[in-house]
Amino acid sequence: MYDILSQDIMYLHGVGPRRAKIFNNDVEIYSLRDLLYYFPHKYIDRSRIYRICELEENMATVQIKGQIKLLTEIGIGRKKRLEATFDDGTGVVRLVWFGGINFIKRQLRLNSDYLVFGRPSVFNHEFSVIQPEMTSLSKTPQMDSLVKLRPVYSLTESMRSAGISSGVIEQMVADIFAKLINVRIPETLPDYFRARYDLMGLEDALREIHMPSDMEKVRQAERRLKFEELFFIQLDILSYAEQRSRRYRGFVFSKIGTNFMTFYNEHLPFELTNAQKRVIKEIRHDLGSGLQMNRLLQGDVGSGKTMVALMTMLIALDNGYQACIMAPTEILAEQHYSTVRKMLGDMPVRVELLTGVVQGKRRAAILDATASGEVDILIGTHALLGDIVNFKNFGLAVIDEQHRFGVEQRAKLWQKNDSPPHILVMTATPIPRTLAMTVYGDLAVSVIDELPPGRKSVETLHYYEENEERLVSLVRTEIDKGRQAYFVFPLIEESEKSDLKDLENGYEHICALFKDMNVAKLHGRMKEAEKNAVMDAFKQGEYQILVSTTVIEVGVDVPNASVMVIMNANRFGLAQLHQLRGRVGRGAEQSYCVLVTGYKLSEMSSKRLEIMVDSTDGFYIAEEDLKLRGPGLLEGTQQSGVIFNLKIANVIKDNDLLVLARNAAQELLSQDPTRTVPANMIIWKQLLQKHKSTIDLSNIS
Ligand code: ADP
Ligand code: MG
Repeated sequence: MYDILSQDIMYLHGVGPRRAKIFNNDVEIYSLRDLLYYFPHKYIDRSRIYRICELEENMATVQIKGQIKLLTEIGIGRKKRLEATFDDGTGVVRLVWFGGINFIKRQLRLNSDYLVFGRPSVFNHEFSVIQPEMTSLSKTPQMDSLVKLRPVYSLTESMRSAGISSGVIEQMVADIFAKLINVRIPETLPDYFRARYDLMGLEDALREIHMPSDMEKVRQAERRLKFEELFFIQLDILSYAEQRSRRYRGFVFSKIGTNFMTFYNEHLPFELTNAQKRVIKEIRHDLGSGLQMNRLLQGDVGSGKTMVALMTMLIALDNGYQACIMAPTEILAEQHYSTVRKMLGDMPVRVELLTGVVQGKRRAAILDATASGEVDILIGTHALLGDIVNFKNFGLAVIDEQHRFGVEQRAKLWQKNDSPPHILVMTATPIPRTLAMTVYGDLAVSVIDELPPGRKSVETLHYYEENEERLVSLVRTEIDKGRQAYFVFPLIEESEKSDLKDLENGYEHICALFKDMNVAKLHGRMKEAEKNAVMDAFKQGEYQILVSTTVIEVGVDVPNASVMVIMNANRFGLAQLHQLRGRVGRGAEQSYCVLVTGYKLSEMSSKRLEIMVDSTDGFYIAEEDLKLRGPGLLEGTQQSGVIFNLKIANVIKDNDLLVLARNAAQELLSQDPTRTVPANMIIWKQLLQKHKSTIDLSNIS
């Protein structure tokens, strides 16, 4: 059948090549179908026409119908304005325009009927409407197509200047529906399915969303369209995960052996929290299931993810496999290495560190020992991704602080074996459940929702830089108690010279403020060896203060540090502030995080700082962050383009619908695993089509 909706919009009445091009370039609308999926962003109720004698002060927008009796230009040059006296028989209002006067003047006719739409204001005891929207009733005589609930479409600058107004789009859509008299828009969801989830038909939904009968119908239409959008994404993700698990058998780690037991009984320095125990159980279940594990471990900063990683690796060793941990920075890899070594003590487990610093013979030796299977646990940075790193028996990869790792990097690890290793991704940047479901929809999720006992939550303060004594006295008090402090400066681009200068100046200033103390400096441009030396010395307590850029943002663990001072805190994102704050409060004492800013703050910055002062709950902060910034900007999720090309659904606001859509997808996959139920054919066919146009999910580990 000829698909009328794939017609080019160019041929719609009043469009033509010039406007079509603008639709193509600005909003990616090519076909009639594209236009039907260009949804209004709001509606205005123009179902009522007011009489001028009914107007009152403080009314929102109103619509009146009458004629222009007098049209005059007032003033000169730039201050020129156009005024009209508008009369509807019950009274008079003044209409005023400031811009585009000549054009408007040419359009307007005296003594001819117009609908005027705008917000009335009172000036000199007279109602006026500034920059009203005018609709000539002599040109568009069908009043009932105008006086109703009307859609409002988003417009770009070039759309506006080509005369494409919201009303023009409204008319184009009406023209499309007029062509559909004998043709139906094909339904995309089976009847039984729509009945089960209470969804309006597709054609009705499209009609109602553009040409609404009432707001209740609009809501039903939106629900249908949002559901469909979310449903197909979830179906795509889940069916991919399911195919993967059918295609790849996972290594079966069935044993809990001597490494795990010895560690558990003799080396574990503390009691595991209940959350840690639960998560380890979940992981053990995956490892023994015969399927490949793909698990995301979320846990707020300081919740003890490293211990979970270590114990998971010991299970791999007990089953004859090698494991690795990959960290986003050298400092962090170094730190994991020393933590793991320390934890394991004299256990016969060979742990090696492979970073960019390890070179020459040492590097060659580690690579050999890894390839021959002598290395049990390999810890490193991206260096582990290099082609020359080969394992004998690679069974488990732990990826720490995932938000620094791109999708492709995960995929590389995965390619190191004929059979994929089990993968545990750990992140301390909690993402809201809804987002996790979409971004990591194919990963199983474990959450450590409990901090080790005895932790005091970090007290967060907002100080102004104009008020330095307060800051100095707080830091001094802590250092006098034997504690240490961090001062962090924003360095958005490590290469930005001006930022580095901020750090230099800051460092000197802090040295001057704390003359009697040892102050160290750390930034990303220092050599790795130098960085590590400074970090070690700070850990040993040789310095009281560490002045740094955000190189310390992730994972650094110095329990004796109890103050985190963040300079120009307004320049950091919430997720980053939360990470930085997580560097203190690792011991049992009260710790402090001081956010320092100038008096002048944008509203957004003030809100962010307020959230930080109010809460230490990473999940809450992530939700708020998302609300403030929108999902597109959430750290680490930029690559997930598929999520944010949503046309109508909103991963934050439509949480309930997302859960419903996910469940529906899950149910469908389990009820029709062979994809042969005739009623579902329209779904499966579309899944194939849609999958092609979204990202290649097979690259996500
Ligand atoms: P994160 O989840 O941020 O990576 P870490 O693994 O670095 O957290 O753990 C933070 C600190 O808490 C470390 O010093 C670690 O030794 C300690 N820790 C972890 N688990 C426990 C526990 N169950 N009880 C007490 N301390 C713990
Ligand atoms: Mg960590």
